[in-house]
Amino acid sequence: MRDFFGPGGVLEQRLEDYEYRPSQVRMAEAVHRALEEQSHVIIEAGTGTGKTLAYLLPALLHGRRILVSTGTKTLQDQIFYKDIPLLESVIGRPIRAAYLKGRNNYLCRLKLETLHAEGLFSSRELRRFQSILDWAQETETGDRAELGSVGEDSDLWARMDARRDRCLGTKCKDYDRCFLTLMRQKAMEADIVVVNHHLFFADLAIRKSDVAAILPDYSAVIFDEAHDLEDVATEYFGFHISNYRLAEFIHDARKLEADVEVVSQASEKFFNGFALLREGRHPVGRLDGIDSLIGALQEARHSIKQKKDFSGEYETLARRAGELESELEVFRSGDLENYVSWIERRDRGVFLEACPIDVSGMLAERLFTRVPTCVLTSATLTVGDSFDYVRARVGFNEGRELSLATEFDVRKQALLYIPPGMPDYRHPCYLDRAAEEIRAILRASHGRAFVLFTSYRQMETMFQTLSGDLPYPCMVQGKAGGKSRLLEEFKMTPNAVLFATASFWQGVDVKGEALSAVIIDKLPFQVPTDPLVAARSARIQREGGNPFAQYHVPNAILRLKQGLGRLLRSTTDRGILAVLDNRISTKPYGRLFMESLPDYEVTDSVEKLVEFMDNKLPS
Ligand code: SF4
Repeated sequence: MRDFFGPGGVLEQRLEDYEYRPSQVRMAEAVHRALEEQSHVIIEAGTGTGKTLAYLLPALLHGRRILVSTGTKTLQDQIFYKDIPLLESVIGRPIRAAYLKGRNNYLCRLKLETLHAEGLFSSRELRRFQSILDWAQETETGDRAELGSVGEDSDLWARMDARRDRCLGTKCKDYDRCFLTLMRQKAMEADIVVVNHHLFFADLAIRKSDVAAILPDYSAVIFDEAHDLEDVATEYFGFHISNYRLAEFIHDARKLEADVEVVSQASEKFFNGFALLREGRHPVGRLDGIDSLIGALQEARHSIKQKKDFSGEYETLARRAGELESELEVFRSGDLENYVSWIERRDRGVFLEACPIDVSGMLAERLFTRVPTCVLTSATLTVGDSFDYVRARVGFNEGRELSLATEFDVRKQALLYIPPGMPDYRHPCYLDRAAEEIRAILRASHGRAFVLFTSYRQMETMFQTLSGDLPYPCMVQGKAGGKSRLLEEFKMTPNAVLFATASFWQGVDVKGEALSAVIIDKLPFQVPTDPLVAARSARIQREGGNPFAQYHVPNAILRLKQGLGRLLRSTTDRGILAVLDNRISTKPYGRLFMESLPDYEVTDSVEKLVEFMDNKLPS
């Protein structure tokens, strides 16, 4: 095997415009080796390592098609619009790259035509529809991102997006000029295809069985933000039935004049049975009316198939009815091995969910043994110094491992504050003490902070307690629009303090002074009564293991690493990290949390925080 860097290597010449740092060289070589040997590798690359450029270079020079899959759209954008063009200039030749998003990001030409012909819009929708119509004449991608705020009308967009449910595939008269067909063709000509985990697993879950797969064949896949793999795989290998999904099917069927009145009645009766269900997740009890619903779907499917002009749209409709039947059957029989099911109530939605308890076998079989090279990388993959937890969770049994420390000078850039004498988080005076500590930390950081919670309730309570008397602009998740808008507002507002939960623990990037403190109220253990978490714990217990040590603790450690990782995003960032949960210092497992974090300097003195923030970063 040829070396990657150095004399006689793939990259013999020193790169002119970009100098790779030692840790990037190690990572690039590890990826090159995996690609050459057709083996797997798992790499933890601490923040600031420059891991995207480290894996992209050997991937680009490999010469076979490679997928790069990210956890977030932000990273997908960065790779496609920033890193790949940079590497093009470094290696001095164009790179054939394609960017693919989930199907619902693209316009369906057929649906657009149908909607146009029907013309059923409110006056507000009509204006927006007209803009979309104009745009559709010109766009080369059909990607809603080009529409800016017009594309944000999700109700209107949902009526014309290219989701699989309503797609006619090769039977569509617009198939050849369909944006998805064009995207797929582009991807087939590309050396690098940038996707996200959702699209990757949506494709993997239906691959072989379905013409709707949109990814081309690939010889290697690089998963960035690989700490998300278990969660995304769980979602896509699961079954999800809801009143919304049934209603959409009935709506589409009626438009085609298919007789679905019996389905409509059976569905209404079935979902009305959950009218008194509280918000949240509940075990699946009796499912009154499920037999009638399955029966009605069967009948509807047969009658659709009897249609004289059965083809195209009817075929798709019959397929959807069949899928609903077989997924409902999973809940009726309740005996799907390795799955746990529950019912969830969210607003007016009733969701029947069944998810795999353990995805390791599925991933080992469908992914790691099928694809010659898989690279898993992230800043948070190890617990202590070990990859064992992540390897076991995702079935990554074979393959080398490499751990690269952060390139930041964490001892100079950050100070980890663990307040002394905090009461247990369940103690009645915890809230007051935590509020006091948050005030003191914010004084030292002059606001400019994320205060991250493990539950909405705790976030709301603390926001109510503090926002009135803090001398900084306070924002709370869920009040001022979506995540990206809130984040923009936070960046633009001097000394802002943001109170947020789970979705801000990862994938959020605020460089510079705007984020000078990250405060975490509780160690982010999963809720033990959540049906999926409980089923996973029970499985470990049954197999003779210790769920707390093998599952809950390592899972919370990785989440904590993610949360604290929000603070330092560049070599010039600095600030305070704080964990208000006393278990990190009082419980025996607290040591493992501390050992898994980067080598932060730890303090229990508020004065030290003030001193640290008032001093400039030593050069
Ligand atoms: S192939 Fe599917 S997504 Fe594309 S235009 Fe036709 S129906 Fe729409």
